[in-house]
Amino acid sequence: MSKPNFEAPRCECGTLEALSKEPSIPIVFDAELNEYHIVGTAQQQVLIYHCIFCGGQTPASRRDELFMHVTREEFERLRKTTSGLNTLEDVVGTLGPPDFDHPAGFSSTEPVGLGPRRTTDFRQMTFSSLSDTANVHVAIGLNDKVQFSFTPKPVARD
Ligand SMILES: [Zn+2]
Repeated sequence: MSKPNFEAPRCECGTLEALSKEPSIPIVFDAELNEYHIVGTAQQQVLIYHCIFCGGQTPASRRDELFMHVTREEFERLRKTTSGLNTLEDVVGTLGPPDFDHPAGFSSTEPVGLGPRRTTDFRQMTFSSLSDTANVHVAIGLNDKVQFSFTPKPVARD
């Protein structure tokens, strides 16, 4: 995937704002995040970086203010903590029971040769007490093989 052009001027044409107010058009404005999204029929959200009319950048996202900063050291620590864990048994044996356990919490879509893309659902566990700033997710694949990912925790608000 290529990156959005962060040099582009901000959109000032108001097209996205107008479209987001049309209930029949699947573009919504998330006021909390200050982001425009395309919303799919199964509630998937796609973040819009550029105006579809003028090509200008959409407003600056507040995502960074809403999620905690995970330091490089903390990522490194979590990577070390989880690096020797290769199977579901290792994970639960070492980390204990997860805080969340979704039978199909993670899905991955990949092209298969020249055929149609293949989407696979994975069981996903989340551990939220391993770090003050990050949640640790474990996707469990074939033969109980595990893959780790880390996401910043939301900032607590009142
Ligand atoms: Zn625009």
